[in-house]
Amino acid sequence: MAEASKAGGGAYEFVDHKFDVVVVGAGGAGLRATLGMAEQGLKTACITKVFPTRSHTVAAQGGIAASLQNMGPDNWQWHLYDTVKGSDWLGDVDAMEYLAREAPAAVYELEHYGVPFSRTEEGKIYQRPFGGHMQNFGEGPPVQRTCAAADRTGHAILHTLYGQSLKNNAQFFIEYFALDLIMDDDGTCTGVVAWNLDDGTIHRFAAKMVVLATGGYGRAYLSATSAHTCTGDGNGMIARAGLPLQDMEFVQFHPTGIYGAGCLITEGARGEGGYLVNSEGERFMERYAPSAKDLASRDVVSRCMTMEIRDGRGVGKEKDHIFLHLDHLDPAVLAERLPGISESAKIFAGVDVTREPIPVLPTVHYNMGGIPTNYWGEVLNPTKDDPDRVTPGLMAVGEAGCASVHGANRLGSNSLIDLVVFGRAAAIRAGEVIDRAAAIPAINEKAVDKIMDRFDRTRHADGGSPTAVLRDKMQRAMQEDAAVFRTQASLEQGCKRISAIWGELADIKVFDRSMIWNSDLVETLELENLMACAITTVYGAEARKESRGAHAREDFSERDDKTWRQHTLARLNDKGKVTLSYRPVHTEPLLEEKDGGIALTKIAPKARVY
Ligand SMILES: Cc1cc2nc3c(=O)[nH]c(=O)nc-3n(C[C@H](O)[C@H](O)[C@H](O)COP(=O)(O)OP(=O)(O)OC[C@H]3O[C@@H](n4cnc5c(N)ncnc54)[C@H](O)[C@@H]3O)c2cc1C
Repeated sequence: MAEASKAGGGAYEFVDHKFDVVVVGAGGAGLRATLGMAEQGLKTACITKVFPTRSHTVAAQGGIAASLQNMGPDNWQWHLYDTVKGSDWLGDVDAMEYLAREAPAAVYELEHYGVPFSRTEEGKIYQRPFGGHMQNFGEGPPVQRTCAAADRTGHAILHTLYGQSLKNNAQFFIEYFALDLIMDDDGTCTGVVAWNLDDGTIHRFAAKMVVLATGGYGRAYLSATSAHTCTGDGNGMIARAGLPLQDMEFVQFHPTGIYGAGCLITEGARGEGGYLVNSEGERFMERYAPSAKDLASRDVVSRCMTMEIRDGRGVGKEKDHIFLHLDHLDPAVLAERLPGISESAKIFAGVDVTREPIPVLPTVHYNMGGIPTNYWGEVLNPTKDDPDRVTPGLMAVGEAGCASVHGANRLGSNSLIDLVVFGRAAAIRAGEVIDRAAAIPAINEKAVDKIMDRFDRTRHADGGSPTAVLRDKMQRAMQEDAAVFRTQASLEQGCKRISAIWGELADIKVFDRSMIWNSDLVETLELENLMACAITTVYGAEARKESRGAHAREDFSERDDKTWRQHTLARLNDKGKVTLSYRPVHTEPLLEEKDGGIALTKIAPKARVY
């Protein structure tokens, strides 16, 4: 039962709640975890700053990967191989195997929950090709593995999972902004504090388990396909709790953001036969990736596009972008399979895709790094002696988490499957570790005082730099200095610029002091979270002297497995100092070869060519 109290935190009145589980975030990952918890009869709350079906997952277009074999031969071992290779050998093999093996069951489960997938003639779930997904352990040809509901797959999944969560009596706290984790002195997470944006009350949730499902931080950059709400809030909470963030330097650029607007044109467009051309009308991907061509993985295609533009073969007046052709495809296929992007191209580029090419440019799209977890979603707080040490009471799933199944580069359609596989895994694990007979932990008043002090300080910040000005500076620095290609000079400059902006946070100005629908304060809290992400991203990138996946350095152009096949851990203190350490990659599969598992030799590191 909620009860009001004034204890602790001075001026703020608290409403207290007790739950077995509190999930922060109602995107695909948060809803799948919420549903799984509630189905087991755990008393579950889901807190979300936007209405659940407005979470960024709603924008996912292309689809969700699973080796269903509806359109041709496929199996989980091929999916695992592609994911390992896509990750440029940085992903944890146990987690990647869990993902590939559980994927088909997770998609059928979604089907049974009610997701309206597109269908084949025989009524099976329709699957399209996507970048980096191949047959025969990468030998090719491309495999049709990506299950789709037209080009609105995320929309379909999110609405279905929200309905199912309500049916199972999960309790939603909608338009509540989570501020920080309540940690005990021994490092156990015991709850979370949230601000009700609508009536200004502060809520303290005590829980046996908190699950962070707060999504990515694309908005640390100037041009991103992600929603304005993708501000890495969970990552910020982790950093403030003294826990590390993992592999933050790996930021995915999607090859086909609409030039100027940044909105996404799904890779499914190339999956359906679309291709890229330069100013000479050349299908240049044939030159760089003779086998996979336009369906090479995203980091590869983004770099090739950037090289074409640098070499003077960009299109348009400024020769600064590339064309994506869909106009050779049957208009009926475009209308049936890609209706959403046909509409986006019309609105944001003024292009009729049946007649003209779409102007596109690589745009920030996904964060491979995030909160380190094992493949059950349990948050890790590694030590030298125990790199897999678990933080009790805390889980992370979805784009906020880093299990790590995407390593240095995520394959298209592997995120939606990550959301549901690991949302479900977290619920299974929580069912095992939560002691139902135990009392819900008491509120740590001291921890709450600290949380409310920060909130109050930010709310009354009265310096000379408006939030929007600092945010713009941060976004420009990230876009310029930590982009598709990186050098020592650009990264050192990035570190300097972001550290300087960190210093300027002390001089921030919040104009609105009210507690009700205060978007100025929300954006300032979001900026603080984004800055935690930005600073760990640039420092991690500066330190990593190799090229791997999305982290492409011109001065260290080779992958260096001897030194760098390891995860970066970045801890941040409240002065903005980043301390880096490293943790080994899990290289062992779960199943042995004799039991049907993948052979170790198959997934041993080698050159990554498409
Ligand atoms: C345009 C676009 C298209 C994509 N297409 C595909 C695709 O076809 N296939 C694929 O596999 N992947 C795709 N991706 C990637 C994938 O959609 C995302 O990685 C994924 O949806 C993230 O889901 P999530 O549940 O982790 O977070 P989100 O869906 O981003 O949800 C985050 C949730 O956290 C809540 N939240 C955040 N901060 C707070 C806070 N402080 N307090 C309270 N609540 C908070 C939000 O309200 C929201 O409910 C696409 C991404 C984009 C941007």
